[in-house]
Amino acid sequence: MKLLFCPHCQDVLKLRFEQRTCECGKSWGRYEDEEHARIGGAAVPLGIGNRSLVDALESRPADGKGTTFLAFVIPLQSPSVTDEGHGATLKFRGSKTRTLEMMEALLGEGR
Ligand SMILES: [Zn+2]
Repeated sequence: MKLLFCPHCQDVLKLRFEQRTCECGKSWGRYEDEEHARIGGAAVPLGIGNRSLVDALESRPADGKGTTFLAFVIPLQSPSVTDEGHGATLKFRGSKTRTLEMMEALLGEGR
């Protein structure tokens, strides 16, 4: 399953055949067929391991820490994603956007 992540508003959207746009409007994308997606703007493509998600759903615990599943950032060069935007050029290290700095702060609080 492919999703897009917007580094500006932090929306995560499941891609569909009709184009979807994040809350701030800076990232968008859609499936072109069952395997291939086209994204644009600042969108960064994410993947979820389908089998891994199903297994985690089926073994959802009553309490505790929950069940992990496989999620990953799709590589810059991927045969299944066409990137018409500038998400691939965003720097997540070194020179960061204010939003990315805020995200790191938020993620740090949870650790
Ligand atoms: Zn956005």
